[in-house]
Amino acid sequence: MAQETPNNYKRVTEDYFSRLHSAWVMEESGDKTMGEVSSNVTVHRCPVFGRLHFVRDQRGIACLSFIVLYWIYGVWSMSFLIIYPRYQQGLLNVVAIALYAFCSVMTICSLFKAATTNPGRVPLVEQPPVTDADQWTFCQKCKQQRPTRAHHCRRCQQCVMKMDHHCPWINNCVGEANHFHFMQLCTYAFLMSLIAFVMCMVHWYLWPKCPATICDKSVYYMRHQQALLYFSTFLSFLMAFSMLLMVSGQHFNLIMDRTTLDNLRDPFGKDQSRPLTLKFRTCHDAYTDLCGPGHKIFWAFPCRRRKVLTSYHYYGNPV
Ligand SMILES: [Zn+2]
Ligand SMILES: [Zn+2]
Repeated sequence: MAQETPNNYKRVTEDYFSRLHSAWVMEESGDKTMGEVSSNVTVHRCPVFGRLHFVRDQRGIACLSFIVLYWIYGVWSMSFLIIYPRYQQGLLNVVAIALYAFCSVMTICSLFKAATTNPGRVPLVEQPPVTDADQWTFCQKCKQQRPTRAHHCRRCQQCVMKMDHHCPWINNCVGEANHFHFMQLCTYAFLMSLIAFVMCMVHWYLWPKCPATICDKSVYYMRHQQALLYFSTFLSFLMAFSMLLMVSGQHFNLIMDRTTLDNLRDPFGKDQSRPLTLKFRTCHDAYTDLCGPGHKIFWAFPCRRRKVLTSYHYYGNPV
């Protein structure tokens, strides 16, 4: 076999990733073979939202439905049990209400995008250029080559680029192309639930006292929906705490340039292809990698499209 030059090696690789990214995000690519997915994933074209990916997994659909109901209950209970009554009493600042509303909308938008965006599935019919053989591994399940940082997801039944993990709560993989949506989701869910928890605490602080001698407690508690308020306080605390852990863990992974799967499969960094070093990336480099090129102000918005990166982000080393 003829020896390939490094320049040719790089050109072929970049060309593959460039076409691959076009297939993920562009409706007009016209290259249908690049966009093929496994039988466990359905793709719907939507005029406004583009290609929507859905994983056929009953457990995932149940978890995602639960999260949507969690959000609906949270918004309903906060709006009608705390925000509206307290605002009428003049005890709640309009800025706090606007902040809560903003975070709520951003949370549900991020959830929608994280759940329906192609996480970076390796097309099942596209064979990589033979010149890249050193940088590709073979997937026994897909029966085809894949980039070294791709992993096979048994829920999606397909390999995913730079896969972080398969999240049942969004019923989708978290990978190269939707990881920033997932990070946005965790961040906005944390902010939303933190604001809700603070509002609940303030509400309890202002809660009118009920002297036992003059008050019928059963009527009193029912009137103020005390049980629902306890439940809302618990839910907001639970979500804020779990999202804080998730955001912290993801942030640590990002600056270490590792994924959740890397940590599970090789926690001590013994794999020489992905050695664990204590050389942290700067936050700027880590989040540019996560969110893609573009102005930083757009990193916060879930509806933007992520631009293509180079093969460095798949291989971990420049080629
Ligand atoms: Zn595979
Ligand atoms: Zn998956």
